[in-house]
Amino acid sequence: MNAEKGLLIVLSGPSGVGKGTVCAALRKLCPNLVYSVSATTRPPRPGEQEGVNYFFKTREEFERMIEQGELLEWAEYVGNYYGTPRRFVEEMLAQGKDVLLEIEVQGAMQVKRQFPDGVFIFLVPPSMEELRRRIHGRGTEGSGAITERLETARAELAMMAEYDYVVVNDSVEHACERIRAIVTAEHCRRDRLMPLYQKLLAEGN
Ligand code: 5GP
Repeated sequence: MNAEKGLLIVLSGPSGVGKGTVCAALRKLCPNLVYSVSATTRPPRPGEQEGVNYFFKTREEFERMIEQGELLEWAEYVGNYYGTPRRFVEEMLAQGKDVLLEIEVQGAMQVKRQFPDGVFIFLVPPSMEELRRRIHGRGTEGSGAITERLETARAELAMMAEYDYVVVNDSVEHACERIRAIVTAEHCRRDRLMPLYQKLLAEGN
């Protein structure tokens, strides 16, 4: 473990829990956190920009990225591919920056295998009723997609056990504060700091 490397923070949570809103608010609260922009085959929603929200790809382009090993993880989610470009994340971590991945659970489990010292945070809704309301309220998907997203959300909630931390998204502000507190605490972990102090002690001899 290298104490000078940044933290890899993975944020997941069921569809509709408000990950996007929380991430947008976190950007303002923690300007030093670096956000990984994913690749996807999903078409852009109104207002989404290439290279800001996602890198929008065709299925062929995405499959080529998989073949070339360009993705740190990838998954198929509600009929579309989503994946994290590897190089950006590795470069940022090597520079000592904390990197945030906002990804679904299958991808998060792939990351966990490669980065066992990553910080895995699961965002949950205050209640199932609230989750249902948020999925319906989004209104960017047809009714078929809504049903599929609700079913997926239920299966995703069951994956909570695989994460280190659970954050309730009762309000965006509170959720962000908790995530910031987790990141601060993780930086203070003895196992992360030991290598740094061992070097310091060795230098004193
Ligand atoms: P949306 O279509 O609502 O933007 O995203 C759908 C789901 O895909 C969300 O749960 C989001 O966290 C996830 N997602 C976004 N980017 C990635 C990625 O790079 N990899 C994986 N595995 N999931 C992603």
